[in-house]
Amino acid sequence: MQDYSEKVQVIHNEKFGRHLVAQLDIEAGDTLVEERPLLVAPHWECGQMKCAKCLQESYVMCRSCKMFPLCMDCQGHDDFECQFFASGGPGGYICKDLLVKNYGVCALMKILLMLEDPVTRKDCERLLETPINLDDYRDGDGMWQEHEELAVRPLMASGLLMSLTQSQSLTADDLHAYCIRIDSYSFEVTARDGDTLKGVFVCGSLPHHCVPNTVVALDEEFNLKLYAAVDLKSGEVIYNSYTNPLMGTSQRQHQLRLTRRLECSCLRCLDPTECGTNMSSVKCRECPDGYALCELSSGGDWRCSECSAILPAADVHELLAELGGALVEAKGELQAFESLLAQYKTVLHPHHFLMLDIKQNIASILRATALMNCMDQPSKKLLARRVELCSELLPICRAVVPGISKLYAIALFEYLLSLVELVELQFSEGELNKKEYATHLKTGRLVAKEAMDLLRFEPENSSEGYLVERLAMELERIESDIAKYGR
Ligand SMILES: [Zn+2]
Ligand SMILES: [Zn+2]
Ligand SMILES: [Zn+2]
Ligand SMILES: [Zn+2]
Repeated sequence: MQDYSEKVQVIHNEKFGRHLVAQLDIEAGDTLVEERPLLVAPHWECGQMKCAKCLQESYVMCRSCKMFPLCMDCQGHDDFECQFFASGGPGGYICKDLLVKNYGVCALMKILLMLEDPVTRKDCERLLETPINLDDYRDGDGMWQEHEELAVRPLMASGLLMSLTQSQSLTADDLHAYCIRIDSYSFEVTARDGDTLKGVFVCGSLPHHCVPNTVVALDEEFNLKLYAAVDLKSGEVIYNSYTNPLMGTSQRQHQLRLTRRLECSCLRCLDPTECGTNMSSVKCRECPDGYALCELSSGGDWRCSECSAILPAADVHELLAELGGALVEAKGELQAFESLLAQYKTVLHPHHFLMLDIKQNIASILRATALMNCMDQPSKKLLARRVELCSELLPICRAVVPGISKLYAIALFEYLLSLVELVELQFSEGELNKKEYATHLKTGRLVAKEAMDLLRFEPENSSEGYLVERLAMELERIESDIAKYGR
């Protein structure tokens, strides 16, 4: 199933290749693309074999083809791929433990079999339409090496190509191009056992922008729905994002270069303040109050917004590498994170992405502590600290993913939980009177409603759908206490 809304138009051009533009004015929440995955497969480095049917862990193999894993609960898998190896025909000469020994070839092998199968060939060929310049990738770095060792070399050595009428004459380079396409068209999907896999979507994969104007929703059956995050004017290009919005500009750029050979020049990347968040800003070393901002458009060094002093990019990267190392050293210890926060307060902007990372780490440790101590009295000081940290993250999430944002909805949910826990405790200990308690709960009610509103276009059978159920339960509890104490 591949279905474009009549509100979008498929366009080809030099800059983006095949992409989508708004055909008419589009409202936030409007569905733009619905698509079933071409392929769902494990990551290249996945060591644990997955059932060919349900994609959960499997230790047993399919009894008819003896090639693919098939769990005890599943009766069979794709007829063509099973028959291909079961028949003793073309696939009969392939060593049956190819997947057992080299599970990394799974995604590539499945693509080759889909090209062989007349039923799936046409859909699969759409994946191969985009030209790839292999020389952009062939530099011996992580990605090429990974494809080479885990997929291309074992597949070439297996003799499988000789049994395939469609792919007989493919070279190792052709297979590399297939691997690159599989990666660049894939979104992370979650299997029922919680493990992540790659879902390959030809239509839903669009040009990148660090502030995307769409949201990608994936349900438990791995179906993709792409919907507008903001209102779009006719003619606007439709974008996805392939980076973590909570990283700073040079880190996002590095990741995009590594995984997609992409030099991003979006509005956020070119804006030294990063949408007003200062997520890459560090304290100026020349003046008392200034912050040095990452100026990508003029060479990539950092420049102080007060005194214009230059802070070389290399110095900033050294500082960040040092803190990165210290974060690993902190090993999830609350006190270690708190001291890092105190130490780096004097060198980084309070909204620097690594400061936010430390704060999120602290908040999640506090959340886990609160869960473990549910029988004991959780400390009010810790609960208050969690509320403070969760609320600090809200404006950042709002700024970097505007419009309908799952990131912001999840941040609101975390804030809501921390707030309600704190005021419930304060009320039970008599620190808040009925009226004060109800006032706080009314804030909570607004937060819950806003989060639910942001998730209203998500499928019910998705992790976001379950979050809406959690929010509804929380809201019901809040409403009943407001009814009891709020009059
Ligand atoms: Zn299964
Ligand atoms: Zn089979
Ligand atoms: Zn960008
Ligand atoms: Zn300065």
